[in-house]
Amino acid sequence: ITASSNEEAAAKTAVDTGGPTIFDKIIAKEIPSDIVYEDDKVLAFRDINPQAPVHILIIPKLRDGLTQLSKAEARHGEILGQLLYASKIVAEKEGIAEGFRVVINNGPDACQSVYHLHLHVIGGRQLKWPPG
Ligand code: IMP
Repeated sequence: ITASSNEEAAAKTAVDTGGPTIFDKIIAKEIPSDIVYEDDKVLAFRDINPQAPVHILIIPKLRDGLTQLSKAEARHGEILGQLLYASKIVAEKEGIAEGFRVVINNGPDACQSVYHLHLHVIGGRQLKWPPG
């Protein structure tokens, strides 16, 4: 069993309880993270288990029901736009604006493991398509 299949198995069993996640502790700075961008609405920090030379997570500071993208409602339009725009800022800061990928894993079949909406910004190497 590979590390990545272990991660997939763990993500398969993660459930959207609506409760706090580890990202709350990162937002509160109760646990350390390598922050690459922050404004009043969003926080971007390096993934602890990077899948590429650049792998950054962008999250809303206020989850507001956005445990996963499929929970989005019309009122979330502004923050969803801010998250996507932050991915462009982060890509520029990291020097990968010429080629990067933005990923949202939604739910068990997509191996979502943390139920606080997050964008993965991935780059710094040739990325393959289709993803697994
Ligand atoms: P998901 O699988 O799309 O839900 O992505 C969750 C991501 O959060 C994974 O890529 C994890 O490596 C990452 N992650 C989990 N805990 C931490 C942490 O404490 N710091 C940074 N990244 C984390």
